[in-house]
Amino acid sequence: MYLDQDFEQLSTERPTTSGRDPEQVLHEVFGYETFRPLQGDIIREVSEGRDALVLMPTGGGKSLCYQVPALVRSGTAIVISPLIALMQDQVAALKELGVKAAFLNSTMDFEQARATEYALMTGELDLLYCAPERLIQPRTIELLHSASIALFAIDEAHCVSQWGHDFRSDYLQLSMLAEAFPGIPRIALTATADERTRKEIAERLSLTKAKHFVSGFDRPNIQYRIAPKTNANKQLLDFIKAEHEGDCGIVYCLSRNKVDATAKTLAQKGYTALPYHAGLPAEQRSHHQERFLREDGVIIVATIAFGMGIDKPDVRFVAHLDLPKSLEAYYQETGRAGRDGKPSTAWMVYGLQDVIKLRQMLEGSQGNDQFKRVERQKLDAMLGLCEVTSCRRQVLLRYFGDELDEPCGNCDTCLNPPETWDGTVAVQKALSCVFRTGQRFGVTYLIDVLRGSENERILQSGHHQVSTYGIGTELSVSEWKSVFRQLVANGYLRADPDGYGALQLTEQCRPLLKGKHTIELRKDPAVKKTSSRASGGRASSPVKDQITDQAGWEALRACRKALANKQGVPPYVIFHDTTLFGMLERKPRTLEELAEVSGVGAAKLEKYGEIFLETIAGLEPA
Ligand code: ADP
Ligand code: ZN
Repeated sequence: MYLDQDFEQLSTERPTTSGRDPEQVLHEVFGYETFRPLQGDIIREVSEGRDALVLMPTGGGKSLCYQVPALVRSGTAIVISPLIALMQDQVAALKELGVKAAFLNSTMDFEQARATEYALMTGELDLLYCAPERLIQPRTIELLHSASIALFAIDEAHCVSQWGHDFRSDYLQLSMLAEAFPGIPRIALTATADERTRKEIAERLSLTKAKHFVSGFDRPNIQYRIAPKTNANKQLLDFIKAEHEGDCGIVYCLSRNKVDATAKTLAQKGYTALPYHAGLPAEQRSHHQERFLREDGVIIVATIAFGMGIDKPDVRFVAHLDLPKSLEAYYQETGRAGRDGKPSTAWMVYGLQDVIKLRQMLEGSQGNDQFKRVERQKLDAMLGLCEVTSCRRQVLLRYFGDELDEPCGNCDTCLNPPETWDGTVAVQKALSCVFRTGQRFGVTYLIDVLRGSENERILQSGHHQVSTYGIGTELSVSEWKSVFRQLVANGYLRADPDGYGALQLTEQCRPLLKGKHTIELRKDPAVKKTSSRASGGRASSPVKDQITDQAGWEALRACRKALANKQGVPPYVIFHDTTLFGMLERKPRTLEELAEVSGVGAAKLEKYGEIFLETIAGLEPA
């Protein structure tokens, strides 16, 4: 009797592993040598059936943290991802690796969805990507109950946080997975979360027992640079020409008009630059995104609408022509550069008008007082980064609770330490001028008064008779602009929210006006080139620069491109640049030798091994 029951239980019990261990999967399927820091621990945790909460910067290698356990455990891993474009890319990339992956989202028709559901039921899938709104439908939950589930991975987990910038209400309902599927491990992953958000994620997703894995936020291969705006278009063109000719990059602007204008300017100079913003027809947008993903050297000029779900590993620069609203936004947007770990640049120009515009937008917004207070603090932190005279990376990382012991040596303030000067007297003059003219004027006018200009507006309003008229001839217009910018950035002056940028005094400037405080100001650097390459930063030099055999490189890329076109996937889905570089360096002659190159897994070896070996055999001997 008992024996019978035992036997029955045994026969319905499913094995929990596929019989492969994580290292084996890493080598055979992904073709990688070793796990990155934390990856190994996370993968073990989840493979053994426990929950995990993972915080890792963009490009840190989050996907592997659930993709490997998905292949180690038996059953199908369900990956919840809010970004349909990303989902499709990831599934395409996994299929290339010989992994059985599929997705369920709103882009597919009934027939396709049915086929995928059938594959899930019959245990044919290793991974199933699913949009959150789809997952929480009772029908889907029922379906999952009758399938064998290896794990749940909740990507972009910060979407459950109402404080975050990407809140999605359907994410809140994902907490039900804990009750509905007890015993099935869940892993939540995000790149942006301070401690408060992390706690919120754990609570709202019922991940109270999950171990937290927090990897540092540092992206050492990204060089951070912020310069005062003089002539934004020219500065951008000079920057690209000097350092990123032919590279793929993203240029962010605040408004649609500026996106269009900037794309045009770049195109006129011969760059492949494409606009991307919510005002363009959906078709054109996705066409531009496709080209960005698939062609080499495309520059996309975009509002912040672009980038969510862009997984392209070889974006070499991210340029901001307007100031982001917070360090979170700055970090996320700049983080789209250099996912492959190769040297990349986060470049920004900003000026007084940016500060004024953002402050006005904020004060004029609909939010309640608490919301505005939080937003104000965020903007202040962003401005703090812009005006800092010490290492920018240290400031950025500290904001996310990460300490960097030494200055980084790979940001503009480290490479060209800015000079400071005693601005006490100049600041007193500036503040007093604001006061004497009635706190009703913008910066251009104020500078005219300080420098004793005889323009008509001044004469008419009688401001040539105030005591601050003409007392500031020792500084140039641009130097005064720099003074005012720093005063606004540091909160001594604010821009009138309803007016046209009239500057007003704040409480904070009292001690300065009374001469009780001295103030050090940043001397804006004369426009000079900061060459990342020559300066010996920490990062190694880009793949492109290490290539001596240009013809060989081109041949390998042509081979990759032909394969990519045939499959209808972006070239990096076939092989990353780093993998091609590895081939060029090692010149493998056999499949065994080729398998040694990082990024060449079993499936790709079988599919593309021969053709790449042929290409390599046809190259000039080194
Ligand atoms: P994230 O999702 O954290 O932004 P990804 O998962 O897209 O990052 O990984 C970034 C890049 O790093 C990918 O191209 C991936 O193939 C590569 N990568 C991840 N883990 C490893 C590893 N252990 N060895 C080599 N490359 C890796
Ligand atoms: Zn630095």
